[in-house]
Amino acid sequence: MSSCVFDPLQLTVENFAKQGQVLEGLWPLASLTRLQESTHAQPNADVHADVAWHLRGESRAGRSGPPEIWLHLQSNADVALTCQRCLQSVTQHVSAERSFRFVHGEAAAAELDAQSEDDVLALSRFLDARELTEDELLLSLPLVPRHDVCPQPLVAPDAAVEGDDGAQQEHPFAALAQLKRDKLLS
Ligand SMILES: [Zn+2]
Repeated sequence: MSSCVFDPLQLTVENFAKQGQVLEGLWPLASLTRLQESTHAQPNADVHADVAWHLRGESRAGRSGPPEIWLHLQSNADVALTCQRCLQSVTQHVSAERSFRFVHGEAAAAELDAQSEDDVLALSRFLDARELTEDELLLSLPLVPRHDVCPQPLVAPDAAVEGDDGAQQEHPFAALAQLKRDKLLS
């Protein structure tokens, strides 16, 4: 059976797993709206605006009972985030890799998820694999994105204290000293 019968946006996970199918491709970053909202408004020109993804279904022999249904997800993308030091765009490579076990019923999924190390989800009629991928990529975003070396001089006063070029920094008491001098002169 051809893999074209499977639609990643309406994936029939159980069949996909039973047939051991593989799907992969690229989604435009703009189609992952939550992820795009986390990005910098003016990305660098070098940012590849596609999200690469790979899905593999697996039917794994269970210790007892019917075979387990698994979905293995891999994805990566270059996204432009806001540098927390200079507030300009910084390109970061993010990737996600996770396996999900699917079972029938929300209650069974919640119970197994709590009991085991596995990530267990409930089977639904269709799975939107793009949404699942987006969740994983959002989780893998760096908490504090920043350049190794910021492209422009620092502007924030707090950040300036961290700088190495102390000679160029104005001494915090310089203004006070100047004020005193002005008073003495008047
Ligand atoms: Zn920066």
